[in-house]
Amino acid sequence: MRTKILAALLATCAIAAPASAQDLRQAINADMPDLMTLYRDLHAHPELSMQETRSAARMADEARRAGFTVTTGVGRTGVVAVLANGPGPILLLRADMDALPVEEQTGLAFASRVRGTSLTGVESGVMHACGHDTHMTTWVGTARRMAAMRSQWSGTLVMIAQPGEEIGAGARAMLDDGLYTRFPHPTHAIAFHDSASLPAGVIGYSVGPALAATDSVDITVRGVGGHGAYPHTTRDPIVLASRIVTTLQTLVSREMNPLDSAVVTVGSFHSGTKHNIISDEARLQLTVRSFTPEIRRQLLDGIQRITRGEAIAAGVPEDRMPVVTIREGDITPATVNSEALTQSIAALFRAQFGEARVTRTPPVMGGEDFSRYRLADPRIESFIFWVGGVPQARWDAANGDPARLPSLHSAFWAPDAEKVISTATEAMVVAAMGVLGRRS
Ligand SMILES: [Zn+2]
Ligand SMILES: [Zn+2]
Repeated sequence: MRTKILAALLATCAIAAPASAQDLRQAINADMPDLMTLYRDLHAHPELSMQETRSAARMADEARRAGFTVTTGVGRTGVVAVLANGPGPILLLRADMDALPVEEQTGLAFASRVRGTSLTGVESGVMHACGHDTHMTTWVGTARRMAAMRSQWSGTLVMIAQPGEEIGAGARAMLDDGLYTRFPHPTHAIAFHDSASLPAGVIGYSVGPALAATDSVDITVRGVGGHGAYPHTTRDPIVLASRIVTTLQTLVSREMNPLDSAVVTVGSFHSGTKHNIISDEARLQLTVRSFTPEIRRQLLDGIQRITRGEAIAAGVPEDRMPVVTIREGDITPATVNSEALTQSIAALFRAQFGEARVTRTPPVMGGEDFSRYRLADPRIESFIFWVGGVPQARWDAANGDPARLPSLHSAFWAPDAEKVISTATEAMVVAAMGVLGRRS
């Protein structure tokens, strides 16, 4: 029955099914011991954003051995591996390589003990707390399978290992360095991310919006400083900034349509040096998240208006009005899945993994610079999906409540990597064959 439904779906969306689901699974299982060795090595040697030289060298080496033509140093540490295999679509498959400034607390035997210094000069522990090590390992597993199966597909594979996802810089760096001009220009782009909100081995996907647009905003609240005992001679920036923080809470709750999604979070608030000094400045750092340009504009304009309005109410002189800065370099656009591609690949996933392992998930307010590959050319059809990583026993113990489990970016995030990598590799090959597979 399922085959019938699938055949009907495939006829309507011009997407091809893999040769044999069983053969594919067996080939991946045979590769898993080697892939897990690679995974543990990558996990133990994490590298911070835009410094992924060791990881990139490893990716390049693996892709070369699988028969790809490899270029390194694209967008600083990025890797582009091309396998041209006749006429057809040009499919970009992306993995990100960077780790986070987090000191690992998982207690795993192969836990990271690495320390590093970020581009901004902050020294810390380094950990693959977002699971990009599972992404890289899956990328290698997929490259090997697609090379081995080349008689079953036609087109071009452009596999990229991207730096700097966590700071929103890597995709842009690769595009600026000629990703679409020096290499075959993709017609399709696919990626996955491990998930701390799904049990291991379960695939999640969203139709349309998948991840939010993110903005970073700095507010410098300027007052008039003085002695803590004589507040009447000052304009206290801590009191004013506190009011701004409180009023900002009404932006989403009172000004937005309740059916739209948005976040305004003040993540940092710094001011003052001593008990009895009223400082002359307070600094706020905000993250702002949205799904459409209109709502993004509404939020950013609202922040400007509220900030200025509260300063006027506090009697701050015109030349000491707060300064609101939207950090242009830190913008990540919303990630939106192409509807037709998403639906047809989701149908292939259901046929391959069964209904119970494929679930439609709501969009999330996290951000992903994978969005940039489609934004750079809206004709590109793109799709990002989730592969659950929560070990089944932990999922059961927490009753499936993600709030009781470590999230992505947590020092305790220890996915069931074997499940993530085997599932994701199988899913990536199924998706790639869906785009590139020969029609019979
Ligand atoms: Zn992350
Ligand atoms: Zn990530």
